[in-house]
Amino acid sequence: MTMMKAPSGAPWRGIAPRAALWLLAASLLPLSAAAQDRGTVNPKPLPPLAKPDDPATPAKELFARKPAPAPLQARTIGFYSKGCLAGAKALPINGPTWQVMRLSRNRNWGHPNLIGVLERLAAQAPRTGWRGLLVGDLSQPRGGPMLTGHASHQVGLDADIWLTPMPDRQLSREEREDMSATMIVAEDRRDVDPQVWTPAHTALIKAAAKDPQVARIFVNAAIKKALCREAGNDRHWLGKVQPWWGHDYHFHVRINCPSDSPDCTPQPPRPADDGCGAELDHWFTEAILHPKPSPIPAKPKPPLKMADLPDACRQVLLAP
Ligand SMILES: [Zn+2]
Repeated sequence: MTMMKAPSGAPWRGIAPRAALWLLAASLLPLSAAAQDRGTVNPKPLPPLAKPDDPATPAKELFARKPAPAPLQARTIGFYSKGCLAGAKALPINGPTWQVMRLSRNRNWGHPNLIGVLERLAAQAPRTGWRGLLVGDLSQPRGGPMLTGHASHQVGLDADIWLTPMPDRQLSREEREDMSATMIVAEDRRDVDPQVWTPAHTALIKAAAKDPQVARIFVNAAIKKALCREAGNDRHWLGKVQPWWGHDYHFHVRINCPSDSPDCTPQPPRPADDGCGAELDHWFTEAILHPKPSPIPAKPKPPLKMADLPDACRQVLLAP
């Protein structure tokens, strides 16, 4: 979600230049696919870095080696895709109506506000017809960039929720590493798969969007199309739901900057409408559904270094 810092103005209206869309697609597709990667019950610890103090060391190598949160007051520092997190709180791996997946990744950490939003949503889930949440990645214990997966999820304000309801039993550690989420998008990419999609999917995403702390929800465009069709007259919440590449198997909940975090950088607001018109139609154009390969392969972006992150992230990293 690096691209959330897009230039202000029209991009959400679906008329972003084609070149920008190429770039977005190139940078986000591999990241989204990683949400499906399997884990292992006994992950190998990362080997120590030869030169951790070298300014050229990618910040992801440093943050990935911190197994516990910085014992500081909870605070989000920076932007969703360029920042870190002090005083993170863990989402317990089992709750009455949620279970955390891929425990080997140690990414069930967030700002306390995010943990609160997830616990509230999990409590509401059964009333929407959804047994409970299977929760994917939040953030690392100190946030920051990750070795695999996401461009965002750096500041403890993002969480992935599987589009698979929680089973009626506690999953084993192995199952939480091996199980796959459910593919929701139809083969032609133009709608959801009617064999899989249920009214509870709509009700759950609606409940998440209605939480006043939730800023955005990212879903595949086919899912947004289904939500637009099924929302009825209560449509205000749809404005928070933004189509994005990937998100075929999970939805991504992003909350607002917390009031205790003056160094948190908010995103530009979404348009005030429900986003079910031209913005959505754009996602089903040929150029987006069947993009032609770019003649010049996009150069991979160099990884973020500590100097690219807010200064305060150094204290978060170095805290005992
Ligand atoms: Zn995500």
